[in-house]
Amino acid sequence: MIDFLSEELRLMKEHHLYRSLYLIDGPSEPKTIINGREMLLFSSNNYLGLASHPRVKAAAIAAVKRWGTGSGGSRLTTGNFNLHRQLEKRIARFKGTEDAIIFNTGYMANLGVISALVGREDLVISDQLNHASIVDGCRLSRATVRIYRHNDMLDLARILSDRTSFRRCLIVTDGVFSMDGDIAPLPQLFELAQEHQAILMVDDAHATGVLGDRGAGTVEYFGLEKRGIIQMGTLSKALGSEGGYVAGTSNLIDFLRNRARSFIYSTALSPPVIASAMAALEVLENEPHLKEQLKANVRLFYQGLKDLGFEVLPTQSAIIPLMVGDSCKALALSTALAEMGVFVPAIRPPTVPEGTSRLRITLMATHTRDHIQFALDAFQKAGKKLGLL
Ligand SMILES: *Cc1c(COP(=O)(O)O)cnc(C)c1O
Repeated sequence: MIDFLSEELRLMKEHHLYRSLYLIDGPSEPKTIINGREMLLFSSNNYLGLASHPRVKAAAIAAVKRWGTGSGGSRLTTGNFNLHRQLEKRIARFKGTEDAIIFNTGYMANLGVISALVGREDLVISDQLNHASIVDGCRLSRATVRIYRHNDMLDLARILSDRTSFRRCLIVTDGVFSMDGDIAPLPQLFELAQEHQAILMVDDAHATGVLGDRGAGTVEYFGLEKRGIIQMGTLSKALGSEGGYVAGTSNLIDFLRNRARSFIYSTALSPPVIASAMAALEVLENEPHLKEQLKANVRLFYQGLKDLGFEVLPTQSAIIPLMVGDSCKALALSTALAEMGVFVPAIRPPTVPEGTSRLRITLMATHTRDHIQFALDAFQKAGKKLGLL
């Protein structure tokens, strides 16, 4: 019975697509212990360093002391603490919407919102490079799913032209694309959505805390507040905590509380998780230099890689994709870097399309110039060794 498992595993290894887990023994900071060895970390989504910011940690500890470690129930039964509601209101204020709802992860938020909004009679139109949680939300909804070419508004318009045979239509996009670091053209998406009476939803997992004057994400970045765009995001990346959210009109949020199954049938997030997300939002507001430092670090690293001669995709986020192509080579580059103490895992299919394996480098506000220089030197040595430069 189990024979197919060893065969599948063997094939994964043969195609350099086998994945194993790294053991991390310290916080998600520029310098941490990975697989028993001190390394410089250049692949964390803890973009602003808030996961170990003293005020954020203190808030989590204080929450455990006052409310304990678990919520003890789902939000609609016994797990709805004052804390949860406060955080939802805080997120709504941050995003400039009437209300917000928290889910246990960003993954669950996408599953919940998409499957609640559309069903068998509806159409979802999704960018080719959208995150897997959006893909899964689309599948779960049982709606007809059409994929448009990445950020290609002509292709989207073409698909929208037969939208009329469907009851409702939802257009969904990553705000910042998680493996490419580029931004969705939200103003054009909004116009097309208006024109075809479609709902527009943006996943700001990688834009929150990074883009916009206050770090509120792509809607703020493009000045599209008050347009009724559904803003989904996570508390788990720049905000250094855990959980997902959807921000929008009161009606939308009320509807999701009643219909989003991933919200209804799961235990509410624990008090320290909620308290740390709340504290992270305060830090984001009070320490705008963190966002600026992140930007400066991204510029420095990007320019450094370009000067060395690597193929890097242009970025306005904290993500720098260094394109390798072949998954075996991408893996070899990642291994060579790890041997020099720089940690950047290779991203391979099915996470990215065939032939576009890459190193997904991310910067943190807490990286120093020395960290960056050390990593660039390692990239140069590894690149030369592998014939990439
Ligand atoms: C990480 C991510 C998610 C999932 O969020 P989690 O909180 O990690 O579950 C959703 N969408 C995008 C674009 C992401 O990058």
